[in-house]
Amino acid sequence: MGILDDFGKVVSDTYKSATKTSGKIIEEGKLKLLIMDNESAMKEIYQSIGKEYCETYFKGELLNNDKFQNEFDELKRMQLENSQAQERILELKSVRKCTNCDKEIDLNSTFCHYCGTKQPDYVPTKQDNEEENIADVKIEAESVEEVIVSEIQCKNCNANIKSSDDFCPNCGAKIE
Ligand SMILES: [Zn+2]
Ligand SMILES: [Zn+2]
Repeated sequence: MGILDDFGKVVSDTYKSATKTSGKIIEEGKLKLLIMDNESAMKEIYQSIGKEYCETYFKGELLNNDKFQNEFDELKRMQLENSQAQERILELKSVRKCTNCDKEIDLNSTFCHYCGTKQPDYVPTKQDNEEENIADVKIEAESVEEVIVSEIQCKNCNANIKSSDDFCPNCGAKIE
């Protein structure tokens, strides 16, 4: 798609001098554009189905759902593509969403540091295994945060945690 290519070019010009982190930023930008493209295409499909549905009703005819099978398939495909893109965006940022409170937490957290809920084991995707630089980005992100948030130790398990954490990401203990 033209828009995506143009965007990629603009982004790559902008980040010409940046390190390998820029690859992730470009990928995230492309994924966001893909999601937006899909959302507007889906909106059009919903509208055309709705219009046809109403027109058929006004004519007093019965509507056969099979009529929209192609549209339904297309909607499902784009919904799936969008949810996969959303997941990939989170991975690129080295975060995932808490299964309870939906806040973004560190990919490797055992417990959510907002609400203390235990998280399912993180299983890296194939893409992660192929990339050696995800850890680098994480370290960069952490060192930026350290400027604002100091590190403390969990009184329960002694893991290094952030002073801003409400719950220990390692053992789930409430931080006083
Ligand atoms: Zn949570
Ligand atoms: Zn702990």
